Amino acid sequence: MEEYISPGDLVIDATAGNGNDTLALAKLAGKGGKVLAFDIQQEALKKTESLLKEEGFFDVCRLILDSHHNMGNYLAEEEKGGVSAIVFNLGYLPRANKELTTKVQTTLPAVEKSLEFIKPNGIVVLIVYSGHEEGMHEKEALLSFASQLSEKKYHTAYLSYPNQKKNPPELLLITKK
Ligand code: SAM
Repeated sequence: MEEYISPGDLVIDATAGNGNDTLALAKLAGKGGKVLAFDIQQEALKKTESLLKEEGFFDVCRLILDSHHNMGNYLAEEEKGGVSAIVFNLGYLPRANKELTTKVQTTLPAVEKSLEFIKPNGIVVLIVYSGHEEGMHEKEALLSFASQLSEKKYHTAYLSYPNQKKNPPELLLITKK
């Protein structure tokens, strides 16, 4: 992420959760940057808010209680096409309601929007957990989606761990040329 985000950039955390990724993004975008962080759970946004306040980065973040597929509603027209990085850490909040997991019906439209909103040389990062049923659907749909992207317009990369037995998280990266 360090290679894709510079101080002052606009970045998006599509799944705020406990706020660890939001904080990491805020540190890279710096005090002059802006981070939009989405989650559908108020509880997650509260945790994110307290972590950001503790670390002194709350002022550069906007926490949004909405699904990430609506991200376009929170970007100004001139910001669309100017986002450096969008991160999806998929799945559910650890030790919380597993029903409130990301779902392919909203994840895919959100990824499509993300590709529209990142700037050239911007990146979409997806951490994919296939160890539960919904996560397996997401993995299959995302890999199929990524494999159909134009190779003239996008680079894609996929990192998995074939000899690990417990479906460890995998990484799907998409950059815009
Ligand atoms: N990035 C987080 C961190 O650093 O702690 C972990 C994210 S957790 C694995 C996934 C989060 O996605 C959960 O908090 C869940 O509520 C949220 N989520 C599920 N569906 C969502 C949606 N449609 N839009 C935004 N967030 C969603």
